[in-house]
Amino acid sequence: MSNKLEQLAHKKWNCICGRTHSTDIKRIITGDDVLSSLPELLSKQLTSDGRKLDPGHDRLLLAADRNTAELDLARISKICHGLGYKTDTCILGSEGDLVPDEKAVFTLLQAASSDTGLIIVHGSGTLNDLVRYVSFKLRLPYYIVATAPSMDGYASTVSPLIHNGMKITYEAQGADAVMAESKLLAEAPAVMLAAGLGDILGKYSAIADWKLSSLIEDEYYCPEIADIVLATVRSTLAASGAIAARDPQAVTLVMDGLIMTGIAMSFVGNSRPASGSEHHISHFWEMRFLQDLRPAVLHGSKVGLASILTCALYRELVKSKPDFSAARRRLESLSESDKLLWEKNIRRAYGSSSDEVILLEKSALKNDPHRALIRLEKIERNWQIIVAMIEELIPDPMNIQNALEVNGGAVRPAELGISKELVFEAAAFARELRNRYTVLQLYWDLGLESQAEAVARRVYEL
Ligand SMILES: [Zn+2]
Ligand SMILES: [Zn+2]
Repeated sequence: MSNKLEQLAHKKWNCICGRTHSTDIKRIITGDDVLSSLPELLSKQLTSDGRKLDPGHDRLLLAADRNTAELDLARISKICHGLGYKTDTCILGSEGDLVPDEKAVFTLLQAASSDTGLIIVHGSGTLNDLVRYVSFKLRLPYYIVATAPSMDGYASTVSPLIHNGMKITYEAQGADAVMAESKLLAEAPAVMLAAGLGDILGKYSAIADWKLSSLIEDEYYCPEIADIVLATVRSTLAASGAIAARDPQAVTLVMDGLIMTGIAMSFVGNSRPASGSEHHISHFWEMRFLQDLRPAVLHGSKVGLASILTCALYRELVKSKPDFSAARRRLESLSESDKLLWEKNIRRAYGSSSDEVILLEKSALKNDPHRALIRLEKIERNWQIIVAMIEELIPDPMNIQNALEVNGGAVRPAELGISKELVFEAAAFARELRNRYTVLQLYWDLGLESQAEAVARRVYEL
């Protein structure tokens, strides 16, 4: 693990943004033979009520999925038993099949007993999302023994789960320790490594969206944390060839980047440094797959694919200045019938989840012409700053495409089973998933929806 990461994990500092940043992640151990640290960690571990974890009182819950159970679960279990702990084991469906929904949450809750003192999760994405939430609800500390550098949730403090078919981010807690064995990471399936790379490359538009929102909506923004994330994304993009060659250092760079962006989220207290329009598009696709009872696709694979589009949408804006007068006239002419048309479109795009989206709009008022006109005025006033920001932050989408391609990641929607229609719907309506300003909302504010579709056609060769 890089020293920088270790320092960040323990860091608490008063930042130029006016806030004090800190994280609850106590230990991050990456490298060789990380499990040899487990006895020491357990010997110092406190329970949620502040007493020492004790093999005489406390059981440990080991959570894995069908694939990761074959990796180091037996070793973890042996170490725990050697220290005198009794363990329960919960094996869920494997990554890609496991849906983080009510059913999975229930399965995990059922596996915990009244004596459970700590959860150890051995796995990656979805499994971690579930344990992060369940441990928080049960007020139990947890450790992660990572299995693949496939997503950025390792150091996260929130949990994206599926509730009533909708992706919702819930409050959760960070792990007390994150362990990542280099050998396991380097042997991770190629599709998982490509997904991790995709999740990291998504940070370009996430950071740009965050900055954009600070300009248009006066949202809080931290330049220092944005810089930390950007430095990581840039070095990961530059190492994409070495990652494809499974250079152990480069693979560790992906893992460090994923953990680091998770820490960045906990510093800020929300997912802004790591998630923007590219994640909204990915969540939209995920929701539609779920509704159509289609098998899930790895989170980072969709994020990587979506970030080709979001970066292209940004770069497109640099080419020519928008017609602000036309955008103003359009917003001024929006009427009751446009509102009805919007609702009809939402019902079509969101299906069984549309009630929640319509409810969100009632408080968010993203499509309210009066509010949009105020935003438009700010966009026009800040246009030069926005263009300069895009030029500084957003790379040529071809670079993202190439990095994904050499690593076997998807660069065309069809590779993930995503239809042309689903791409256009995401470009138009993924912004409705959250009340969060992004480039997708910027396109709507400027009346550039058909241009967004044209950009999607071009970059994805649709
Ligand atoms: Zn700050
Ligand atoms: Zn992500």
